[in-house]
Amino acid sequence: MTIPNGIKAIVFDLDGTLYDKRGIVRKMIFGQLGSLSVLAAEQRSKKALRGHYFGTEEAFYDHFFEAMSRGHLYSAKVARWWYFHIYMPLMVLALRLRHKPRPWVKPLIEECHRRGIYLAVYSDYGCVHEKLRALGLDTNDFCYLVSAPELGGLKPAKQCAEKVLKTLGVAPEETLFIGDRDDTDGETARAVGAQFVLIKD
Ligand SMILES: [Mg+2]
Repeated sequence: MTIPNGIKAIVFDLDGTLYDKRGIVRKMIFGQLGSLSVLAAEQRSKKALRGHYFGTEEAFYDHFFEAMSRGHLYSAKVARWWYFHIYMPLMVLALRLRHKPRPWVKPLIEECHRRGIYLAVYSDYGCVHEKLRALGLDTNDFCYLVSAPELGGLKPAKQCAEKVLKTLGVAPEETLFIGDRDDTDGETARAVGAQFVLIKD
């Protein structure tokens, strides 16, 4: 991958970008047949809230778990418990056991260090530190690790992307977003006027 001239920061998406995530949902479904309907509700709620901004992490998760439990027999409290105690730990475990960073990731990190380019990870899911470590990556290689929910919303919310750029202290035109989804990662970059590279399998 060639980094365009003038780039001072690269913001990576995590899932599907730093590693090939094909098959992970199937593996997770087999690992937790009992919570299939919760998993479907999680995916539906993520889709319904895409691009929304609620201001704070607390407000985002309140809306998210409320959306997950709507029309179901379990409460928002149970959805929250499942998400943080079952779903997220299972995702981290699946990464540790079955996934590796894409071959270009470590060489690109080294090149960026040589060139003094800041690196960040901006994910739509939490547990960013845990997932990077599970992939065998060094979290110290990145100067900022954050999820959109921590910033109060979901990709491609402009407000969240602006917070990422503000924390990095870089201008949009000096920033390259790298992601595997044009509708979330690409839209995020375009929302703030940054550059974007799409990762394809
Ligand atoms: Mg992704």
